[in-house]
Amino acid sequence: MIIVLKQNAQEKNIEQITKELESLGLAAHVSRGETTTIIGVIGDKTKLTGKNLDLMPGVEKIVAITESYKLANKQFHTSATVVKIGDVEIGGDKLVVMAGPCAVESRLQLLETAQAVKKGGASILRGGVYKPRTSPYSFQGLEEEGLKYMREARNQTGLKIVCEVTSAHAIELCAQYVDILQIGARNMQNFELLKFAGKSGLPILLKRGLSATIDEWLNAAEYILSEGNPNVILCERGIRTYETATRNTLDLSAVPVIKAKSHLPVIVDPSHACGVRAYVPALSKAAVACGCDGLILEVHPHPEAALSDGAQSLNPEDFEKLMGELKPLAKIMGRLMA
Ligand code: PEP
Ligand code: MN
Repeated sequence: MIIVLKQNAQEKNIEQITKELESLGLAAHVSRGETTTIIGVIGDKTKLTGKNLDLMPGVEKIVAITESYKLANKQFHTSATVVKIGDVEIGGDKLVVMAGPCAVESRLQLLETAQAVKKGGASILRGGVYKPRTSPYSFQGLEEEGLKYMREARNQTGLKIVCEVTSAHAIELCAQYVDILQIGARNMQNFELLKFAGKSGLPILLKRGLSATIDEWLNAAEYILSEGNPNVILCERGIRTYETATRNTLDLSAVPVIKAKSHLPVIVDPSHACGVRAYVPALSKAAVACGCDGLILEVHPHPEAALSDGAQSLNPEDFEKLMGELKPLAKIMGRLMA
């Protein structure tokens, strides 16, 4: 539930309500909007039985929240969350593009890609060093060696870097190198991993699970937020349907639905959604038109030789062309591009 305060409520009212909630073993989450301040109540609501919070000074009304996720809920946090990574802001005025190879394969491959995506206008470099592959015999990633190349690429280009983490050990190691930790679709409901990622304090890019509902996805975000980490970026990457012409089905409706239900930024990954390079530009444009806060795109200097996901990777020329095409669209949507 949330406690909506009167317009003229004072700081001492907020303090008194917070103290009362804490004395009952509940947590208070204060969100100050431009006109209204609200206090979100987290914990076992039965503890409030017989307590007339609505009669406390400064209280306008009490509103019940039916969704199980609270901190991720727009009703709890009325202004949009902007995740700041140095000078890059996700969820702000700019459309943020993350791009890079599916997997870091070698130093040269990564540095070449980093230069290319930087030239094309990306502000964040992606590259997996722990690859959750369907087959255990497929390339599994370079682990720490790959992280060193990511760091070198960051130093060379100024791009921020994002890597997927698949275990607590990977979080500990990646936290020493990267700007954003990515939780992949296959781990969206790995709750221990989510808690650990939350505790890392780093921004988390949380991909939607292969067959997860939006409600389940927002509850996964809640696991991270409830560890005191407010920096969660959601990523729609396609869901399993009966359609086989594409790798997954891009659920673009997730973008406006997330915007209606949550304050968290949401980006779209058209590469994993469709699995086919030729479809990536159209889906990228559609995602921008739906109001996403950014895109994550797979780019490889030689897609035909890629160790993973070559079929869906753009080459640098196609990436640059797409970035040029996205600019006017982003502008219509009220977004600038780097
Ligand atoms: C990836 O981004 O490389 C990846 C494995 O994506 P997903 O978790 O969405 O499948
Ligand atoms: Mn991939």
